[in-house]
Amino acid sequence: MGVGAFSRPGKHIEKGEIMGAYVGEVQKRSNELTSRSAYVYDLVGTNKGSKAVQVVVDGQTHGNWTRFCNHHCNPNVVVTPEQVGKIVLLVFSAAKRISGGSQIFINYGRDYFTDSNMLCVCSTNRVAHLPPVDSNGDSDVDMDDSPLVGRATKRSRIPR
Ligand SMILES: [Zn+2]
Repeated sequence: MGVGAFSRPGKHIEKGEIMGAYVGEVQKRSNELTSRSAYVYDLVGTNKGSKAVQVVVDGQTHGNWTRFCNHHCNPNVVVTPEQVGKIVLLVFSAAKRISGGSQIFINYGRDYFTDSNMLCVCSTNRVAHLPPVDSNGDSDVDMDDSPLVGRATKRSRIPR
């Protein structure tokens, strides 16, 4: 777990409110990348021409506060990929009402833990655990007018 990100003290966030977007370099998928950066999202989807899109968004050098969000199996923020022209944004929005000063949690997805051979220690369970099987990190997106339909999940940093 990293330093974490928190909502502003004294200011709550309403459910559905867009809080920001994960910003990073879009690169071709590469296993090598995971050994250098701890801030990588896998983005898998299809574009308007139904071509498969498999890229990573690396926030190591260009990232903002969203890259510091920790995992929770019952997160208060959902991450949704949105495409605006050639730019891909991983939009962070509140999954529930968030009180001021609360830690912001996202769901890294089960693969993040299995790939890195780690267990989650969040408050949903008294013992270390894996996120639920149906936990894919982020909801599948079906955007009628968007050229990109897909799913973004945080990539594990595979130790070498
Ligand atoms: Zn957990």
